[in-house]
Amino acid sequence: MVFANCRPVVFADGTEGLFACPLDEYFWQQHLTNVAIRIAEISKVDLISVIDGIFLDMEMYRTEALAANKKNYSPTTCFCDDCFSHFIQTRPEWKNLPAVRKDRRESWLSQNGLLEDYLAYQTGRVEVKARELKELVHAINPKMLFGVYPAITKTNWVQKALMRALGSESYPVISFSTDTYGYPSCWGASKIPSDIPQYFKEYDINGIYVAGYMFRKYTSSEIRTNIIQSRQRCQGYWLYKMPQLFESVIPAGEELGGGTQADYLQAIKNANAW
Ligand SMILES: [Zn+2]
Repeated sequence: MVFANCRPVVFADGTEGLFACPLDEYFWQQHLTNVAIRIAEISKVDLISVIDGIFLDMEMYRTEALAANKKNYSPTTCFCDDCFSHFIQTRPEWKNLPAVRKDRRESWLSQNGLLEDYLAYQTGRVEVKARELKELVHAINPKMLFGVYPAITKTNWVQKALMRALGSESYPVISFSTDTYGYPSCWGASKIPSDIPQYFKEYDINGIYVAGYMFRKYTSSEIRTNIIQSRQRCQGYWLYKMPQLFESVIPAGEELGGGTQADYLQAIKNANAW
């Protein structure tokens, strides 16, 4: 979401989105890098630390009711003043910044044969920022892992750039995927894409894929079956959310899909040993 002091993303139609420009300095510093550094520092505290890595949530909350192309980054973002002028400054043919309205920038870049270069340049800038973040974290704790949520995507170039940078020359970045999360259109391990290795290869991402399951959408025996299938179809699984298996009071709407807490724990143990 767009926090105070952050610059909103700008779509190709000139409108502003509900989330930040992917290259907003303040956003990267305050909401990503500083937080990541703090997590890395806490992960180094002996005895109490159980932190293995950092999970980047790329879902843009509050966009649920918006059109699909306004819910997240895509090739139709970002055309804000900063992104546009930054790119133009790298082009020797443009001594001065051309006066192009926000809603005309995409077509202007396209007409001038620059749209592909623009997206590549933007992608490169995100990768630089993500690599800097990773290096700062690894300088504190070289063992820190990185994960990105939700499902892998072909259109969200920001997510792909992040994953590429975070997995490069280190432990693979972990895709905390939601293809199997449990909603009607994404239920069961059979929804794990069959072309994951090709996806990672196509986008030059050193990644691994783990299938996600929500406890409220799966019974304990379904959890067992689907964990076993995940281990055959991809690199692993993740479960949401663990407090449901330990806390005595479960909030309304978060009840387990079917089975007691002990049933779920036994099912997980059983599947892991399978
Ligand atoms: Zn921008």
